[in-house]
Amino acid sequence: MTQPRKRVLLKLSGEVLMGDQSFGIDPAFVLELAKEVKAAKESGLELCLVIGGGNIFRGMAGAAQGMDRAQADYMGMLATVMNALAMQSALEQIGVQTRVQSAVQMDAVCEPVIRRRAERHLEKGRVVIFAAGVGAPYFTTDSGAALRAAEMRCDALLKGTSVDGVYDSDPKTNPAAKRYDTVSYDTVLADNLKVMDASAVALCRDNNIPIVVFSIREKGNLAKVLAGEGVQTTVQKEA
Ligand code: UDP
Repeated sequence: MTQPRKRVLLKLSGEVLMGDQSFGIDPAFVLELAKEVKAAKESGLELCLVIGGGNIFRGMAGAAQGMDRAQADYMGMLATVMNALAMQSALEQIGVQTRVQSAVQMDAVCEPVIRRRAERHLEKGRVVIFAAGVGAPYFTTDSGAALRAAEMRCDALLKGTSVDGVYDSDPKTNPAAKRYDTVSYDTVLADNLKVMDASAVALCRDNNIPIVVFSIREKGNLAKVLAGEGVQTTVQKEA
């Protein structure tokens, strides 16, 4: 990454909150992630967060077992709210001010998504955690992340996952798979590369938001990636 980033959106897949467990939330690991987020924040960034729900429930999995897809997706959205609350409490435990805004209104628990209010939170140095994706079934939190990155005018969308970038084929099954340093939105879409859903990639492309894919499992990597160091792939416009 060569350009300085002032406001970034960090998308974490729900699975990273599991730590070494196979399901749910590992509070100790969430605390480690919160420390990384704190360090990023202290480097002077305005930070928005979106967390998935795959560690708890995915709509597609429910639908595959015979559930109504939309109903299952709403359950998935509720899972993302649980993760957002877990991250909020870890961040506040280490002194980072946060607000959770959910696309599915839940007045007793968090704020609804209100863009201008989110702006104000960021100005005041709070981390804003956007929960419940776009608030509609048949979408994912990747699309939610792209949408919030666009409406909050973020300089980049950082996708922290368990792989260290985008490969031309699956590195788990093909040892010769090559990692891209940069790759265009159009190549990602045309070659169906595993980065984010096509709708999320298209939204980033149309709004010229670079997507930086990196491994969040490695300690200290978020700060490195923000400093333009470390292993990552940037999805961007064709040079
Ligand atoms: N979901 C949805 N609409 C959204 C965001 C999420 O229906 O805008 C549901 C969907 O069922 C999804 C689940 O919430 O499977 C969890 O989100 P996701 O799969 O994106 O989580 P991740 O893979 O990032 O952990």
